[in-house]
Amino acid sequence: MNVADSEIVASILKDSEFTITDDINKANLILINTCSIRENAEQRIFARLKEMACLKRRNAGLTVGIIGCMAERLKNSLLENEKLVDIVVGPDAYRELPNLISEAENGHKAINVLLSREETYADIAPVRLDKNGVSSFIAIMRGCNNMCAYCVVPYVRGTERSRNPDSIIKEAEELFKNGYREVTLLGQNVDSYNWNDINFPKLLERVAAINPMLRVRFATSHPKDISDELIYTIARNENICRHIHLPAQSGSNRILKLMNRGYTREWYMERIKTIKAIIPDCAVSTDMIAGFCTETEDDHKESLSLMEWAGYDFAYMFKYSERPGTKAARKYKDDVAEEIKSERLTEMITLQNKLSAASKKHDVGKNFLTLIEGNSKRSQENFFGRTSQNKVVVFPTSQSKKGDYVNVLVERSTSATLIGKIVG
Ligand code: SAH
Ligand code: SF4
Repeated sequence: MNVADSEIVASILKDSEFTITDDINKANLILINTCSIRENAEQRIFARLKEMACLKRRNAGLTVGIIGCMAERLKNSLLENEKLVDIVVGPDAYRELPNLISEAENGHKAINVLLSREETYADIAPVRLDKNGVSSFIAIMRGCNNMCAYCVVPYVRGTERSRNPDSIIKEAEELFKNGYREVTLLGQNVDSYNWNDINFPKLLERVAAINPMLRVRFATSHPKDISDELIYTIARNENICRHIHLPAQSGSNRILKLMNRGYTREWYMERIKTIKAIIPDCAVSTDMIAGFCTETEDDHKESLSLMEWAGYDFAYMFKYSERPGTKAARKYKDDVAEEIKSERLTEMITLQNKLSAASKKHDVGKNFLTLIEGNSKRSQENFFGRTSQNKVVVFPTSQSKKGDYVNVLVERSTSATLIGKIVG
């Protein structure tokens, strides 16, 4: 989401005559796009700011801005406590950036952290920053209305709003015309996308109809909202990828309730069973939180047993990090000791490594239509690409090039990668 936002910011600045430099020493303006989801994401930004002190000493004309979620969360205090920072801009105020930058250049600290109920930046054509030229993100909505007890997102990104579908289709068509072959539709809860009579499955199918050679992915689905209609839509469109990121967060009903997730373990398991029944080759991944408030050893074991049951192909796992202002921070005690959180996280990671390895091993001996994303980082003689299931495949290069589809026979695997060769 932050990459997509940075691309919008780059577009707004390009329109007011800024250009991007790859050399930080040459920059007159540095904007740091930030995340507040966990405390260590914010700590990393403070460390980055320290590094920038010497850049500012060398170039008195340098303007430094903090933008995004941390700007929204910390507001004026960022300007007060971090002498280096000249501008602070929240995620709904990027259109104001050119004015705020001029103010800062005139020696006034500048801030705009107003959240909006309407802003979707629908009319802004993002400047693609990734440079890979094959796959890109499209934000289809902003904000979140869910209020999971641990989560700062609704506070820093505002209420949920969907973007006009015509502008989404136009952006995807443009990407395809420019050689891109994969788009990922982004929202905090894509299942609640809604624009007049267009819901998320309808939007997804419209994007998939642009061209069969355009792969479509999406993130994130919410277990309480993912519908059979969505699952059937994936099943009948081959270019909608066979991968659903369906964060469980916990396997314990007591913890899920405290988290305000809106589903039970049983409901979640039923959703996975339906996915696997309708799309047998669908990969499923998750996010898990270790050590949420009051989590006992038994609750933790239920998270592990859910992971084992689901046989996740991939997982993002985090230690619970209390975020000021959230329901959990206001009402519950962050009472799981740091060492216990670490132990539980390690157990989760160890289990997931085993599950990831099994998921990859299962693919050995099979053929997968693979989209080539470029040369492998480790060797120029290998390409790397992805299967529809979002698994990375490495294989020897051929006449084919980045952006082509090839059939790859998987010959062996590690816990992170499939290794094979082009066939047919
Ligand atoms: N909207 C998405 C993801 C949002 S944030 C969803 O609902 O799934 C990405 C992940 O960060 C979450 O799924 C959660 O696992 C993790 N996360 C969010 N807040 C957290 C916190 N306070 N501490 C630890 N992990 C957190
Ligand atoms: Fe946060 Fe929950 Fe919204 Fe995801 S759905 S962004 S976890 S509040």
